[in-house]
Amino acid sequence: MLIVMRDGCSPQDVDRVIDRLRQMSADGQVAELSGRTVIGVDPPGAIAGPDALDGLAGVERVVVLADPHPLARREGREGRTVVVVGDVRVGGGRPVLIAGPCAVEGEQALCSLARTLKAAGADLLRGGALKPRSSPYSFQGIGLDGYRMLGRAREVSGLPVVSEVLDEASLEAAREHVDVLQVGARNMHNYALLKKVARAGRPVLLKRGMTATLHEWMLAAEYVLEAGNPAVILCERGIRTFSGHSRFTLDLSVVPAIREASHLPVIVDPSHATGFRSRVPAMARAALASGADGIMLEVHADPRQALSDGRQALLPEQFAALAAELRALSAALDSARETVP
Ligand code: PEP
Ligand code: MN
Repeated sequence: MLIVMRDGCSPQDVDRVIDRLRQMSADGQVAELSGRTVIGVDPPGAIAGPDALDGLAGVERVVVLADPHPLARREGREGRTVVVVGDVRVGGGRPVLIAGPCAVEGEQALCSLARTLKAAGADLLRGGALKPRSSPYSFQGIGLDGYRMLGRAREVSGLPVVSEVLDEASLEAAREHVDVLQVGARNMHNYALLKKVARAGRPVLLKRGMTATLHEWMLAAEYVLEAGNPAVILCERGIRTFSGHSRFTLDLSVVPAIREASHLPVIVDPSHATGFRSRVPAMARAALASGADGIMLEVHADPRQALSDGRQALLPEQFAALAAELRALSAALDSARETVP
């Protein structure tokens, strides 16, 4: 980032800009360039955008030179990031299947479902102990004890666990039992939470906010990477559009776009995107074809009795059939890529 000063600006104008940069925890290097005073900003991404210094006397314009997401971007890196969770490699070529209920509802039901899902080909178990619902009147989750139940389900099934955290207390409760910490769509912009989650020493599954651009999603990932945690999995889960036929609009066009822009693995959640179980298999297939590194699916043994999101939950036997189909599809996509020059 470079600040170009007006012709004839005063030394006081330059000092004021340096002071403002220091207020933003940045520094300024003053130089003369073709008779003009310019100030280089260090670190380069320290000021938000070209209007950050609006109103300061003597400033002509701010030129954005630096990439705003130096750690998340793909450019300049060899290969893609593979996030390792136990024996599972997310982004390692073989698509990862994450399955489980929307919410943890009880230990026995969860353990029994986890065993079934493992046998059906799931790689990771999902389930929310705390549910950040849009309405305060909706089921808010079983509570912190849900993390212990997930730990138990991990023990009996051998599946590593993905679960959402909301705050310090949930992070603490999840520490022992959860392998991948999920930041939900509603919290993608919660930067204080991103920093805390980043420091927990576990991989982070970062859902795309329902109104977030690709750039904002990458900046959220940048928060985790910048805090020293390289293990970030991105998850597209549908965005808000004018369309009313489904819960959200699954933006599969973002999959190749973010794979171009970032080295991080990206998975797709067709359950929350569509909101209807009948539409989940088609969008799961499409997600694999779009280049996703994995699929996250909600599954419930008795969706009509589910405490949240039952309408979009697959039955265990539907998951088993879809999992087998997705494995076959993935092999077909690999061989198509190899056979077509
Ligand atoms: C979830 O995966 O449990 C969830 C709440 O999803 P999202 O944050 O995408 O709404
Ligand atoms: Mn859900």
